[in-house]
Amino acid sequence: MGTMCLRRRCPGLIDVTNESHENPADHQYVVSIDDVTEELMACTCPHHVHRNAFCKHMAAVENATDD
Ligand SMILES: [Zn+2]
Repeated sequence: MGTMCLRRRCPGLIDVTNESHENPADHQYVVSIDDVTEELMACTCPHHVHRNAFCKHMAAVENATDD
């Protein structure tokens, strides 16, 4: 898995950028979480949007908030 850069935009929204791509800006997605329970809600990437998959972006957020 490549390097994921996480940045909390505001409560419930986290920008996830895959820095391992040549153009990281083309691979920036937003993962939304419940701002109370921090439960993962959705991601804007095609993986999740089209297949409702638990994608690597959500996994990165889960790992980051698992403290
Ligand atoms: Zn995703």
